[in-house]
Amino acid sequence: MIFKQIADMINMGLVVLDEDLKVHFWNRWMALHSDIPADEIVGRSLFEFFPDLNEPNFLRNCRSVFTFGNFAFFSQKLHRYLFPLRPVYSDKTPFDYMQQSCTMGPIRCRDNRVQFLFLSVSDVTEVVKYEEQLVEMNSKDALTGIYNRRFFETSLQTEFKRSKRHGRALSLIMIDLDYFKRVNDLHGHQVGDDALRAFATRVQSRLRQSDLLARYGGEEFVCLLPETDGPAARDLAEELRRMTAETQWVCREVELQLTISVGVAQSRPEMDGFETLLKKADDALYEAKAGRNRVVCYD
Ligand code: GH3
Ligand code: MG
Ligand code: MG
Repeated sequence: MIFKQIADMINMGLVVLDEDLKVHFWNRWMALHSDIPADEIVGRSLFEFFPDLNEPNFLRNCRSVFTFGNFAFFSQKLHRYLFPLRPVYSDKTPFDYMQQSCTMGPIRCRDNRVQFLFLSVSDVTEVVKYEEQLVEMNSKDALTGIYNRRFFETSLQTEFKRSKRHGRALSLIMIDLDYFKRVNDLHGHQVGDDALRAFATRVQSRLRQSDLLARYGGEEFVCLLPETDGPAARDLAEELRRMTAETQWVCREVELQLTISVGVAQSRPEMDGFETLLKKADDALYEAKAGRNRVVCYD
């Protein structure tokens, strides 16, 4: 009696199933979040109400609870949820269903035989939401919304190793906006900020899904181009250069003329690390800066 009250007051889902996977107990929390009252579901097969759970992995876990007394964990990282329950603050979450961390384990009778299986369900929607926001904040640049330098460097390492392993092409484009200090000095930082945003959006729209655009520093950008050789990267860089120079940029009703200097480098078998590729692109950019509004390809 006491335990029934506790089970109904506790702020998590508690479900007990018998060996036929019929519901033996369904606490108030489960009733509240599923809209299925206990007296409707108790005595019936769980799968009548949740047909999606009738799949090999869930069944295997149930069997191992009854046969071996094992426990099983369904983490939100792998499964997201077991029961399709609506999120508590449905207007504020990006998820269709409540994200859940669930545990499954044995309930034994006097002779130590496993008689029932219990399932506990915790709502971890808020945790998952914050985790995703954190990952996003850590990988994106706040001003432009494209990837930041940290994310770019991690991706560069991964892609460099992959290109070495499979002998596939990989190229890198480094972009620096010319005389950008002037934009700020003449029109103010807000116009400068808008120009950086507009430029990033424009470049992004020219890239493929597999390419990665990041803000490397103040007015410097990098494009990581997997499966792209030097000549193809140079063509793209040239197109970006032309596009930038020919666009009539308008930011906060101010008309701007922008140009970029671009360094291009392609990964080579003799390069021992991703730093070398980065250095070559940077060297090429330095050379391009000598004239400005130019593309230089490292050979
Ligand atoms: P160069 O042609 O030699 O590249 O000249 P530059 O003026 O672009 O080069 P420099 O590196 O001297 O200056 C970069 C300027 O970019 C300095 C700063 O005013 C501007 N800048 C960097 N980050 C931001 C930003 O987040 N917002 C704005 N508005 N301006 C920025
Ligand atoms: Mg610069
Ligand atoms: Mg510059």
